[in-house]
Amino acid sequence: MKGVVFKGNKKLEIKSFPDPTPSDDEVVVEIKASGMCGSDLHTYRSEIPSITIAGHEPCGVIVARGNSIPNHIAPLGARVMVHHYDGCRKCSNCLGGWTQLCDDGSTVFGRTDHGAHAHYMKVPLRTLVELPDSLSFIEGAAISCGTGTAYGAIKRISMQAGSKVAVFGQGPVGLSVTMLGVAMGVEIIAIDIDAGRLKAAGKFGATTLINSSEEDPVLRIKELTRGLGVDYAIECSGNPIASVAAVKSAKKWGTVCLVGIGKSATFDIYNDIIHKQLTLMGSWTFSISGQSDCAKFVAEKQLPIEELFTNKFTLEEAEKAYNLFDTKATGKMVLLPS
Ligand SMILES: [Zn+2]
Ligand SMILES: [Zn+2]
Repeated sequence: MKGVVFKGNKKLEIKSFPDPTPSDDEVVVEIKASGMCGSDLHTYRSEIPSITIAGHEPCGVIVARGNSIPNHIAPLGARVMVHHYDGCRKCSNCLGGWTQLCDDGSTVFGRTDHGAHAHYMKVPLRTLVELPDSLSFIEGAAISCGTGTAYGAIKRISMQAGSKVAVFGQGPVGLSVTMLGVAMGVEIIAIDIDAGRLKAAGKFGATTLINSSEEDPVLRIKELTRGLGVDYAIECSGNPIASVAAVKSAKKWGTVCLVGIGKSATFDIYNDIIHKQLTLMGSWTFSISGQSDCAKFVAEKQLPIEELFTNKFTLEEAEKAYNLFDTKATGKMVLLPS
């Protein structure tokens, strides 16, 4: 089979690998869709070459099973996503389905072990998450990181219906927050510097669109909320300016959730956190059951997750795909290995 390996400094190679064979508790997934995530660009741009196959948004069908897997579990042909981490399987985080937080350090598929930018991917049985029948493989890929991360953040802040929520950054994760949030009955104020992304946020149900390259989002949010601020702010861009604006835009007793990974930010702890009784938290992806819940929610509400994708490429076109993705001028992108 072929697999995409990042060679460092924005170079990649489509290399040949032996087709994987599962050990006792593993399955092999034929990858139908492998999403490209913003965090892949960190590895793509890094000077340090990878030795593993990239891609951590895997979705496909089971084509081989280990000997110890009972017949009724994960049958051949089953449509699955992969929770793209593994851990010691014994610590409390692993037992709770949060293998990315494993006390012994986690395996990250697509980073420290082979990922999904390949024809096949071998994974432990316990990482599989069923793909609901009504969802496409592409939608499953989105849920396997980007949209799942949005869902994880929403669950983390226990967002109440009827709230006002400011979503900073309307890339694939932020747009997913917008879409999921609207379906959960909150009012979304979408902030971005890109008119095209804001247009998409409006299409997905955001009631207010703020272009932060043209106006101060904090001032505008205060105007929209009688000077009080929003109930919740979710930061999905990773830009420190947006992180600070998210904290400043939240009301007293409000909650701010940082999701986007970027440079460090400096906050006014006195005025913007302590004296507002602010709850400030981080949210990193989702648990195995969170991924499953997200998929069921998207299926039940028939959310147009596939519309997040602006570009689809074959595995052989990976170089072209990452060149384009690196411009950050697109929406979500996906490789379709088979
Ligand atoms: Zn990701
Ligand atoms: Zn563990």
